[in-house]
Amino acid sequence: MLKRSYARVSIMLNIVALAIFIILFFMPSNNTLWQCCIWIAWSMVVISLVIRFKYFKCPSCGKGDAMPQWLKSGNKHCKKCGKPFEYDR
Ligand SMILES: [Zn+2]
Repeated sequence: MLKRSYARVSIMLNIVALAIFIILFFMPSNNTLWQCCIWIAWSMVVISLVIRFKYFKCPSCGKGDAMPQWLKSGNKHCKKCGKPFEYDR
C-alpha cells in the first residue's frame, strides 16, 4: 500500500521547486538571496526524490517504481509484476 500523504508531499515539493526555478530564471543572479533560493529549490527536489526512492516501490514485488499520484489509485501498474499500485486513501 502506498502512502497518499507522501505522494502529495513529493508532488508539492516538485511543483514549488519548479516555481522557484522559473521565478529565479527571470531574476538577476548576482545576489545572496538568489543563491539561497536556488539551494532551497534543489534541496526540495532532492527530498522529493528521496521520498520516491524510499516509499514508492511496488508493494507487491518491491522492485518497480511507483509514480506518486495526487488522487487516483489502482490505474497505474507495476512494470515488473503488473500489479496495480493501490494507495491508502
Ligand atoms: Zn511490482
